[in-house]
Amino acid sequence: MSNLKQSVTAIKGIGEEIGQQLQEMNIFTIEDLLLYFPYRYEDYRLRDLADVKHEERVTVEGKVHSEPSLSYFGKKRSRLTFRVLVGRYLIKVVCFNQPYHKNKLTLQQPITLTGKWDQHRQTITVSEISFSPYSKTNDVEPVYSTKGKINVKGMRRFIALALQQYSEDLEETLPSMFLKKYKLLSIREAIETIHNPHSHDSLKHARRRFVYEEFLLFQLKMQALRKVEREQSGGIAQDIDSVRLDRFINELPFPLTNAQNRVVNEILNDLKSPFRMNRLLQGDVGSGKTVVAAIALYASILAGYQGALMVPTEILAEQHVASLKELFAPYEINVELLTSSIKGKKRRETLEKLADGVIHIIVGTHALIQDEVHFKKLGIVITDEQHRFGVEQRRVLREKGESPDVLFMTATPIPRTLAITVFGEMDVSIIDEMPAGRKQIETYWVKHDLLDRVLGFIEKELKAGRQAYVICPLIEESDKLDVQNAIDVHSILTHHFKEQWQVGLMHGRLSSHEKDQVMKLFSINEVQILVSTTVVEVGVNVPNATVMVIYDAERFGLSQLHQLRGRVGRGREQSYCILLADPKSEVGKERMKIMTETTDGFELSERDLELRGPGDFFGKKQSGMPEFKIADMVHDYRALEVARDDATKLIQSKEFWTYPEFLPLRNHLKTSGVLSGEKLD
Ligand code: ADP
Ligand code: MG
Repeated sequence: MSNLKQSVTAIKGIGEEIGQQLQEMNIFTIEDLLLYFPYRYEDYRLRDLADVKHEERVTVEGKVHSEPSLSYFGKKRSRLTFRVLVGRYLIKVVCFNQPYHKNKLTLQQPITLTGKWDQHRQTITVSEISFSPYSKTNDVEPVYSTKGKINVKGMRRFIALALQQYSEDLEETLPSMFLKKYKLLSIREAIETIHNPHSHDSLKHARRRFVYEEFLLFQLKMQALRKVEREQSGGIAQDIDSVRLDRFINELPFPLTNAQNRVVNEILNDLKSPFRMNRLLQGDVGSGKTVVAAIALYASILAGYQGALMVPTEILAEQHVASLKELFAPYEINVELLTSSIKGKKRRETLEKLADGVIHIIVGTHALIQDEVHFKKLGIVITDEQHRFGVEQRRVLREKGESPDVLFMTATPIPRTLAITVFGEMDVSIIDEMPAGRKQIETYWVKHDLLDRVLGFIEKELKAGRQAYVICPLIEESDKLDVQNAIDVHSILTHHFKEQWQVGLMHGRLSSHEKDQVMKLFSINEVQILVSTTVVEVGVNVPNATVMVIYDAERFGLSQLHQLRGRVGRGREQSYCILLADPKSEVGKERMKIMTETTDGFELSERDLELRGPGDFFGKKQSGMPEFKIADMVHDYRALEVARDDATKLIQSKEFWTYPEFLPLRNHLKTSGVLSGEKLD
C-alpha cells in the first residue's frame, strides 16, 4: 500500500479529533487531503481601486480616516464601520463580527484591507484587516471550502503538514513524454503549487498540468469505451453493391454537395467495416441530411438488410415517409410508417411485414422500440434529432437487430467542445456546407409593442403569395398555459386577418388526425398563417413559407430559435425571421442580438455555450455531462483537443497496454469502472 493511502491521522500533528472532522468533509486518506484543492484564491496583490470592478475582491492599503463606530445586533453579531483614505479615494469600511479591531484603530494608522469592493457605495466589506505594513510574502493564498470546526486557516495548516511529510510519496501519473512535450509540472511540484502558489504565474502553470491530466484521463475513458464498443459489439460487415448505389446517387434530382459526399463516404466505410458504426452526423437545418440518410438506408438494403429511421414526432415521421417514398419511387423499396396512432389491423399487418422482411424501411417515433416490434434482419438504425432520445431508448433499439450500425443525426449544432466530451465515444461527421443557391434568412428583433407593424409585414408577404409561421413558446407539451398562448394568438390573428387569410392552429394537444389536417392545409396553401407551439420545430418542410414570427423569443434557447428559424428559407424566395421579445437581462438582449447577427448554427451554438455554460446547454434532459474539478470545457478547449488526440493515439498503441510508464493511466481506466480491464488487454 502506498503511504498516501494511510489515514490522515498518520500525519504528525493530525490527531483523532481532527481526523474525525476531516472525515466529515470526505477526506479520509493523506492522498484525499493532498488532492483537496482550493476552490478559489485570495488575491493579495495591491490594486488601484480605479481598476477594480464592482463586487470584486481586492486588497488595498490606506490610512484610517475616522473614528470607528461599533454596533451590536444579537449577542455575538457586530458591525464595525470607519473610513479609510486609499490613495485619492475616501472609502467606507464595513467589518462584521470582529469587534476586537475597534481598539486598535487610531487616526492616521496605516492599514491593509482585504474584502469585497462595492463600487456604487464606495465601500469595502472586509474579511481581513492587517495593521502591520503590507508584508505578504505571497500574492495569492488558497481558500478551501470547509465544514464544521475546521476553518480555512486550519485547512492550510493540515495540508502544509501533509506536504512536508508526504509530498515525496506522490507518484507521477503522467508519462514523462507528455510532461516534456507540454512542459508540465511534475505531480509533486503541481500539488505543492496549487496549495501554495508563489505567484499568479506559478498557479497558472500548476493549473495547466491538472487541466491536461483531467482531460487526458477523461478522454482515455471515452476512447477506451469506443474501442470496446467497436470491437466487442460484433458489428456486421455489410456488403454494398456500389454500382447500384452510385446509380441511385446519380439519379437524385441534384448533385450532392462536397460535404454530403464526404459524410456519405464516412458512413459507407462504417457500414462495410466489421465494427459497428456509432456515428454522429451533424448538419445545420437544411444542409441535406435526409438524402444522406436515404443513401445509407439504401446501401444497407442493397446488402440485404432492413433499416429503421426513428424521429421524435409523428409529424416528422410522416414527412420522412413522404420524402423517402418520393426518393425511392423509381425503385422497389418498401417504406412504411409506424407510430403509436397506427392501431388495430393496420398495425398488425405492418408488424408482420416487418418481421417477414417485406418492409425495407420503417419510419417511426418511439413506438419503434416497443417489445412487439421485430425485424427480420435489421442492418441500420438512424435517429433524427438524436439529442431528444434518451440513451436508454437508443440502446433498446440497437439491441433489436443483431448489431445494427447506428447513425445519429442532429440539426442542433453541438459546439465542438461538447461534441468531443458528451459524444466523445462516437465518431463525428459534419455537413458544413449548404446546397448552392440558398438565400440567407434575414432576422430582426422587435419589441412586442411593434406587433402591428409585424402583422403589416406578414400581410405584405401573404399578398405576394407566401405563407407565415407564428410560434408561441411552449416548453413542455403538456403545459396547459402554453397551449392557451397559442390559442389566444390564433384568435387574435384570426380576428385581425378576418376572412382575407386563413389562420391555422397547431399544438401538442391536437389529435394526430387534427394535426395532419392542419399541416396538409398549410402545405397546399389553403392555410396561409400557421400559429403553432414548438411542435413544428423539427423537420417540417413547407418551402413556400417565408416568414417566421416567434413570440416571447427570449424564452427559447439559441439553438431552439435557430431550429425554428430553419423552417423558413427552404425555397427560392427571400425569407425572414422576426423575434418578438422584451428581454430583461443583458444576457437575454445579447442572445437576441446574436440571432440577428449570424445564421451559422455552429457559431450560434458556440456562443450559446459561452452564455449558458455547459451544464445548461442541453437543458435538464441531457445527462452525462462530465464534471471536471479544475478544467473548464469551454475555456480550456485547446487542452481538451490535445488530450483527445493523445488519448486516441495511446489507446491504439501497443505500448500503452504494455509499457510500465503507462501503468498509472491503465490503472485509472480499470478503477474508473468504465471497463473491466482484462477485456482490453
Ligand atoms: P436537413 O434535414 O438537413 O435539415 P433536408 O434533408 O430536409 O435538410 O434538405 C433540405 C432541402 O434541401 C430539401 O428540400 C432537399 O431536397 C434539398 N437538398 C438536399 N441536398 C441538396 C443538394 N445537394 N443540392 C440541392 N438541394 C439539396
Ligand atoms: Mg431533417
